[in-house]
Amino acid sequence: MAAAGAASALSPFEEKLQGQAPPASGAAPAVDGYVLVTSANGVEATKAARQALIQGYDPLDAAIAGVNINELDPNDMSVGYGGVPNEDGIVQLDACVMDGRTLRAGAVGALEGCKTPSKVAKLVMERTDRVFLVGAGAQKFANAHGFPAEDLLTSKTRKIWLYWKERLSGTDDWIEAGREAEDPDIKEFIRKYGNEYFRPQGTIHMSVRSAKGDLVGVTTTSGLYFKMPGRVGDSAVVGAGVYSENGVGSCGSTGRGEANLVTCGSHTVVEFMRQGRSPEEACLLALKRIAEKTHNVPRHRDEKGRPKFNVSFYAVDAKGRTAAAAIWSGAKYVVGDNEGVRTLESAYLYKKGT
Ligand code: ASP
Repeated sequence: MAAAGAASALSPFEEKLQGQAPPASGAAPAVDGYVLVTSANGVEATKAARQALIQGYDPLDAAIAGVNINELDPNDMSVGYGGVPNEDGIVQLDACVMDGRTLRAGAVGALEGCKTPSKVAKLVMERTDRVFLVGAGAQKFANAHGFPAEDLLTSKTRKIWLYWKERLSGTDDWIEAGREAEDPDIKEFIRKYGNEYFRPQGTIHMSVRSAKGDLVGVTTTSGLYFKMPGRVGDSAVVGAGVYSENGVGSCGSTGRGEANLVTCGSHTVVEFMRQGRSPEEACLLALKRIAEKTHNVPRHRDEKGRPKFNVSFYAVDAKGRTAAAAIWSGAKYVVGDNEGVRTLESAYLYKKGT
């Protein structure tokens, strides 16, 4: 399908942008003090990180302490411990951190056996001369720093994985026990994600602008449910899942990793902010690029040529202005600042149901 298919109908945002110059630098109100912007699953994480900032913690330590809440929560099935496993029933985690003060970053991909990949990513940044460790090497490094090898599969995610695996085919050796759909955990899984075309995913991203103006970001995930072993999404990739640069901005992503990977989305958002765009405009412009240019094959396009997937960006600029935007309406995000922590509606390119 031609890329033009995706771009044929102008969204309200595109109409607004036509012929519009970037706002003059300094035109928008500055926010005095610290601010945090987080994906919608990060209310508790944002509260914790905000408290840490108030107590004077380093902003990256505060952000990591925040997302550790999701990583350690066995009931959060998209991040860390209790994340839904890959095809083989093994939990493989991706995470990335970036420090805008130094432009240093650290990342781990397909890390097994460690509940808090964000902490390991920070150690990669601080205690190696490298940026990105994956698989067995990442696990060896985590073990060397005292992270014990742990089983990340919970009884709930094992049940869900077996349910998925046993229903894949009627001609293989895996047989359903029957009556699984009566199990409350499976029921919840089916209710949330449907029973036909479900490949759910989830991630937490947090970007922080400290009161001093330092910009940092962290993204951590168990990635796409039942992914191919070894598949690494955007969350582990500097420039795609996170990009932070002092004086410009910080951004992170959730959603279909492959679409974001090929556009280096978080870096793109920060570059748009460098050019003078507001965080919201920057996020929407980067999403427009994804929507128009990636995945231009029929299985990823609806009848109007629009993406049948979603990507969200969460951004803060050097002035402390925050925004989030998604390809599709209905997404939310969390902001924390002097006034507290609140959940807001993300901007979007396309309205669902239109
Ligand atoms: N971006 C993540 C990935 O592709 C998943 C998500 O954010 O939902 O692994």
